[in-house]
Amino acid sequence: MARLNDNYLKLKAGYLFPEISRRVSEFTTANPDAKVIRLGIGDVTRPLVPAVLKAFHEGVDDMAKGESFHGYGPEQGYSWLIDTIIDKAYKPLGVELKTSEMFISDGSKCDCANILDIFDLSNKVAIGDPVYPVYNDTNVMVGRTGEADEKGYYENIVYMPYTAENNFAPAFPEEKVDIIYLCFPNNPTGTVATKEQLKAWVDYALSNDAVIFFDAAYEAFITEPGIPHSIYEIEGARECAIEFRSFSKTAGFTGVRCGLTVVPEELMATTKNGEKVALNKLWNRRQSTKFNGVSYPVQKAAQAVYSEEGWAQVKEVIDYYMENARIIREGLTAAGIDCYGGVNAPYIWLKTPEGMSSWDFFDKLLNECFVVGTPGSGFGPSGEGYFRLSAFGDRENVETAVARIREKWGK
Ligand SMILES: *Cc1c(COP(=O)(O)O)cnc(C)c1O
Repeated sequence: MARLNDNYLKLKAGYLFPEISRRVSEFTTANPDAKVIRLGIGDVTRPLVPAVLKAFHEGVDDMAKGESFHGYGPEQGYSWLIDTIIDKAYKPLGVELKTSEMFISDGSKCDCANILDIFDLSNKVAIGDPVYPVYNDTNVMVGRTGEADEKGYYENIVYMPYTAENNFAPAFPEEKVDIIYLCFPNNPTGTVATKEQLKAWVDYALSNDAVIFFDAAYEAFITEPGIPHSIYEIEGARECAIEFRSFSKTAGFTGVRCGLTVVPEELMATTKNGEKVALNKLWNRRQSTKFNGVSYPVQKAAQAVYSEEGWAQVKEVIDYYMENARIIREGLTAAGIDCYGGVNAPYIWLKTPEGMSSWDFFDKLLNECFVVGTPGSGFGPSGEGYFRLSAFGDRENVETAVARIREKWGK
């Protein structure tokens, strides 16, 4: 009989979202008239904007005619899309990139998982706690870790706690690490890193020969001037950082699928003999072998995000979500609840009142306000005592949910 990959058995069963569904359906069965509002989702809720849809349709129509039909495209993505992104999304930040440094993909979840292919298992990895679970679980799957302890920490991963006590700016790892995952604006905490804080990470990476994996999935939600949208706004980042971006949250592509990874040419890693090799070459080889590109109509749709019309429409949707975030954040603050995030990210991370556990707060919110959120402990041990509310959703629902919470906890 074939042997399986034992590393998969180290993974804890996906518990968070099934458990939320179980509790919600138990509640709705017992209270069929309660109008439950879901602010737990990490998925967009508004449709694609007209300019994107138009380009998407045109892309499909091109496929119907012999002269404009597209078969396999470049594994790296069409250069017209890459150059548009470089021009519209990076140049305005003062960041220069070459076409060969950007790789279009079907989303950044896959990219930040697949990137591990080009790194040796001996690398020590540091991740946040709480965290987007993909970073942790993919390291378990490739066999970089031992078993999890009773708290949920895996042996051989360095965890960096993000808490209110450290202002969601963890100290540098005490032991030497080779790969550091950073996600700003952060999921789940909704907090950001300043230019100075990112500069400190870049300097740390450069002096420790470490690589930063920078997940910028939420950069489009930054509203405050001066907060970096890209790690490459920081001097030295081209020598130490890989950046992941996605059209998912930016433009409602969660069900369309398009993302990108930037691997600058200067970024090196060493062979077992100590020889330096450019990671851009390895990632290009990896993608060319294991990936066949994103569909042509999707890349047409993605390009339209950066047309003048497209960006104005996309921005309007982002502003809608961020107005939801403001309503949640200000409403909860007025009710005396400590909130973080929600200014430069569509997530509000709140400290549970009266020292309740994340799950106790979940039950109370569901039972008394009919509002569903996400227990912070589901994102990692340091998320215990916190709770995530999402600004993706309908304005009226957000207002109703906030009114109910204020009624319950308001002073
Ligand atoms: C939603 C999200 C992504 C985007 O994933 P896609 O695969 O591009 O849909 C990446 N990172 C984080 C932290 C996210 O929350």
